[in-house]
Amino acid sequence: MKGTIIYPGTFDPVTNGHTDIVARAALIFDRVIVGVAASTAKATAFSADERVALARDVLSPFSNVEVQRFEGLLADFARQVGATLLLRGLRAVSDFEMEFQMASMNRKLIPEADTIFLTPAEQYSYISSSLVREIAALGGDVSAFVDKRVLAALRERWR
Ligand code: ADP
Repeated sequence: MKGTIIYPGTFDPVTNGHTDIVARAALIFDRVIVGVAASTAKATAFSADERVALARDVLSPFSNVEVQRFEGLLADFARQVGATLLLRGLRAVSDFEMEFQMASMNRKLIPEADTIFLTPAEQYSYISSSLVREIAALGGDVSAFVDKRVLAALRERWR
């Protein structure tokens, strides 16, 4: 499909669930921009630059996927890169409410853009960055949920 789609998120850190969504999007859309939100209300385990570097490493096999950091509003970033499509992943019904609210708000802020949802393969449907962080911080094994480079970064972070 022609055009650019932005996949925005915190990616703290990028997980196999995110990669699954990116892989699907890369088959459908000409150009996928993974937008790493630098300013987030959440306290992150990794800095914005670290989150971008990890996502770039992990997603480098996809030739039509770029990882870009953005500050401030997604609406401004979307206009800046000329994207009129936004991508979000839906894991379970519990994601729906928040995602519906966000898509509706983004429609007000960027009326020219639409949000598209993709679902991951079922083995990724229970993975979240926050659970991965929590398990890693407590010394648990998260090797099934993240790329080996992310695993190394997590180990370094909580050494
Ligand atoms: P946020 O912190 O804003 O929820 P994330 O960076 O965690 O965003 O994730 C970005 C997007 O990826 C969100 O749409 C989220 O629902 C989706 N996502 C996260 N984990 C998975 C997964 N395991 N499978 C599919 N989508 C996912």
